[in-house]
Amino acid sequence: MQTIQQASQTHAAMDYHAATEAVSAVVKQQLTPKVADIDLKGEYPREILHQLGDVNAYAHAVAPELGGTGLGLKAAIQSIEEISKECISTGFMAWCQVACTWYLQNTDNQALAQELLPDIATGKQLAGTGLSNPMKHFVDIEKIALTAEPVKGGFRVNGMLPWVSNLGPGHWFGVAAKIADSDDYMMAVVSDDMEGMTLRCNAHFIALEGTGTYSCVFRDVFVPDARVLAAPCDDYVLRIRPGFILTQVGMGLGLVDSCVELMKRTNKRLGHVNRFLDDQAEDIEADLQMARDRTYALADRLDATDGIIDDQLLREVIQARIAGSELSLRAAQATMLHAGARAYVHGSAPERKLREAYFIAIVTPALKHLKKMLFAMPEEALTSVVS
Ligand SMILES: Cc1cc2nc3c(=O)[nH]c(=O)nc-3n(C[C@H](O)[C@H](O)[C@H](O)COP(=O)(O)OP(=O)(O)OC[C@H]3O[C@@H](n4cnc5c(N)ncnc54)[C@H](O)[C@@H]3O)c2cc1C
Repeated sequence: MQTIQQASQTHAAMDYHAATEAVSAVVKQQLTPKVADIDLKGEYPREILHQLGDVNAYAHAVAPELGGTGLGLKAAIQSIEEISKECISTGFMAWCQVACTWYLQNTDNQALAQELLPDIATGKQLAGTGLSNPMKHFVDIEKIALTAEPVKGGFRVNGMLPWVSNLGPGHWFGVAAKIADSDDYMMAVVSDDMEGMTLRCNAHFIALEGTGTYSCVFRDVFVPDARVLAAPCDDYVLRIRPGFILTQVGMGLGLVDSCVELMKRTNKRLGHVNRFLDDQAEDIEADLQMARDRTYALADRLDATDGIIDDQLLREVIQARIAGSELSLRAAQATMLHAGARAYVHGSAPERKLREAYFIAIVTPALKHLKKMLFAMPEEALTSVVS
């Protein structure tokens, strides 16, 4: 007979399985036929994003009372992974949406969370995150792009964010700005509906073209206190950062999984010669399984914290994200080499995987950014993991 604990574990396993299956069904039926249009024509898959929301793809890191499933970060990563197997553009937008839910789930501004989170968690309202610049700024890579002047009832924000994805009319996204005449920063959710905000499409990318990516110009945008996530936001940023970084690993896990599949498929025809390549499908598959186990375990550990994350845990999160990027690059290159000239034909799946893998390694926090963070971490955190 099962113990109560075993029964609840079985129940949880079924929940995870059902959650991934539901996402997988939308991916197969709706996303797979549209991948080339998203990638090559830059079509923004608005309807598919809503359909993924209908099956809770963005709702797992959100508490049930705020419209989520409460399954936790592992399930959130698994959803992003499932989508990313097919399309990194859509996988990245799923991550953008999840990141915005994560900001709202972790804010002390309960009224804001109650107002916006249920619709964002269920994908009725689409949303993104403009935190690349502040994340880089906080580790001394670049200057802060937005400033917020305190005014009656809120802040007046000015500046420009070069690229924010999953945007469109009325979409919400998280931003951080330096508070004028102080050393503090604030975080808020904003939208292009706010007066003084303009979205501009001024770049074309080698991949991720269908991601609704715009530069956002803020000219005296009034952000009311009701839209503020935290001000000052030092502690809040420390709280959201590990989940922000770890959920991105889902993109890498999905991409690598699909590369392994492509390599195995190619080997049916070309295995007699592919076996001389350094990176074999089985090697990458074994590394993928290790990365997956490590990422899921870290997600459970993050869920179990009360928001206070020690350096050791943060370091492991950063290492998992590095592993996801490096394995993506390796797997995409191995897929090209396995498929050979057929992969070199414009529009081939391996060629897309290669372009997508570079995005995983350069989106904030990029590989170089993550390695800079590790370099700056205290000695104890370094030695305790190494030993
Ligand atoms: C398709 C796409 C979608 C994206 N979507 C989003 C999104 O949704 N949200 C988001 O926030 N970001 C988004 N980004 C941004 C992405 O995260 C960045 O590409 C990432 O931040 C890495 O940027 P980088 O490599 O250009 O900058 P890095 O190379 O990391 O940084 C270089 C920075 O240093 C500055 N610099 C140069 N020389 C010096 C010097 N001597 N001293 C001091 N500073 C110097 C440069 O101006 C630059 O700002 C997107 C990017 C792409 C391509």
